[in-house]
Amino acid sequence: MSKDILVTGGAGFIGLNFIYYLLKNTSYNITIIDSLTYASHPKEIFKLISDSRIRFIKGNITNDKDLQIAMDRKYEGIIHFAAESHVDKSIENADDFIQTNIVGTYHLLQHLLKGYAKKMIHISTDEVYGTLKTNQPPFTEETPISPNNPYSATKASSDLLVRSYYETYKLPLIITRCSNNFGPFQHKEKFIPTIIYSALHNKKVPVYGDGMQIRDWLFVEDHCRAIFSIFEKGTLGEVYNIGGGNEKTNLSTVRQILNLLGKPDSLIEYVEDRKGHDRRYAIDSTKLQRELGWVQTFSWDQALEETVAWHIKKFKEHSL
Ligand code: NAD
Repeated sequence: MSKDILVTGGAGFIGLNFIYYLLKNTSYNITIIDSLTYASHPKEIFKLISDSRIRFIKGNITNDKDLQIAMDRKYEGIIHFAAESHVDKSIENADDFIQTNIVGTYHLLQHLLKGYAKKMIHISTDEVYGTLKTNQPPFTEETPISPNNPYSATKASSDLLVRSYYETYKLPLIITRCSNNFGPFQHKEKFIPTIIYSALHNKKVPVYGDGMQIRDWLFVEDHCRAIFSIFEKGTLGEVYNIGGGNEKTNLSTVRQILNLLGKPDSLIEYVEDRKGHDRRYAIDSTKLQRELGWVQTFSWDQALEETVAWHIKKFKEHSL
């Protein structure tokens, strides 16, 4: 008999990629709970529900009644992606971030206490570690948490809640902290899609500050494989970093994408830097590689080309 997995936030960027990963590579039945915020992909969900392995619940993880609908069986695991995820929005107003990222995670943990799942993988971010100077080594799982913006502060808060439920109640929990993802289904508001769509419209491409902020990019499919391997073989109570080892300045990423699109560098427009902008992220994934044998399969250049091609296709299909 097939077993069940619950995916929160399965209509978002990484959640949706993870659903497709599960459908392709496993035989799990999948329940998705997602409140379908502006960041979600309802049309993809509509396509997916014709698959007998998919059950979709439109529900909010901060609402116990919605969660109760999902908790009608014992899951092999809950993969918890649901979050408000855009740093700029959190700087404007953090209300929804506090509700979903902290309160929502708390509600899920309370349901886990009732025994609805054998384990939960809490998807967090390298942003909880704060920022690095150029000469500092990448974040390890031992790096102290030091978030610098409301988004990362709410993620760090949820990490601490998860940790406390492991320590206090011995709940079967694992935390993952991943670097910046890119790939299909990423929302237009995020850095790489913003570059692509601005350039396709021949509009100025905004670059914060001097553009020398460094991000460590990971292709979403490699992230999904890492999460699944942590779900299957990870040690409960542990934190696993997942990084791409692709440290790039924002400016070099913009230039590379403009080049792929055949657009001139003159589209670049420097704008006022983001408040509390972290200068550099870099993540050390040695633990994941050593303990679980995870390796990246996509190179930066290849994955970026695929991502740009995917967005061009969407741009042409939907006049985005
Ligand atoms: P996303 O914003 O694209 O998707 C989030 C999904 O969660 C959406 O479908 C949304 O409708 C849903 N959601 C939001 N609030 C909800 C609520 N209260 N109840 C139910 N569903 C709700 O985010 P993403 O980029 O796919 O990120 C997924 C997870 O991965 C997040 O926890 C994020 O912090 C983490 N993460 C993302 C990145 C990245 O680069 N995108 C990197 C590291 C970690």
